[in-house]
Amino acid sequence: MTSQRTRMRMVERLREKGVKDETVLAAMAHVPRHLFVEEALAHRAYEDTALPIGFEQTISQPFVVALMLQLMRGDRSLGRVLEVGTGCGYQAAVLSAVAKEVYSIERIAQLLEKARANLRPLRIPNLRLAYGDGAKGLLDAAPFDGIILAAAGAEVPKPLLEQLAPGGRLIAPVGIGEQELVLVERTPKGYTEQRLSAVKFVPLREGKQ
Ligand code: SAH
Repeated sequence: MTSQRTRMRMVERLREKGVKDETVLAAMAHVPRHLFVEEALAHRAYEDTALPIGFEQTISQPFVVALMLQLMRGDRSLGRVLEVGTGCGYQAAVLSAVAKEVYSIERIAQLLEKARANLRPLRIPNLRLAYGDGAKGLLDAAPFDGIILAAAGAEVPKPLLEQLAPGGRLIAPVGIGEQELVLVERTPKGYTEQRLSAVKFVPLREGKQ
């Protein structure tokens, strides 16, 4: 139930649902999602569903992870990327297989520790985790070619827009109650915004915990 074969079946379902980016699909075939959930839920790790990871948070649904990564990549090769909301570390691991350098920030200290423990055996050299309020971004590492939010705020936080490199793309769930996926691109003249499908994410919260 946690084998490579099961994982490949998950990837086939993602393909059937319309994910086309082979780089993203290969990354999802590579990362063992069952290592990021409690043992009691491991048998459900390759279902296309969000699962609880404690602290009222969830590991994102595989289809949504794949869709967001595909949109953020837009067929470019990604240099430096920021993830807001490390959670259990799963998406950070997938990101590390599609971008040169990944920074992931989490506001719940105990969850960050959990992510560190989950990620340690995978020995991912191009991933750095940070503790803090991701709505402020990560100024020391900016600018980013891609920014991905795993939690929904009322709007896209301004510091994140400012930390986007020219030509960079940000993908985020936006909205309180009703949420939709928003794709922002930084152009030489400013920003363009596309509103995409309806989604359901945990809320983006302020400060550290
Ligand atoms: N990326 C995870 C999903 C985690 S759920 C995965 O791979 O499945 C979203 C996470 O965002 C939660 O852990 C939550 O604590 C975190 N979060 C919410 N607001 C945040 C903020 N302002 N800064 C950093 N992390 C935040």
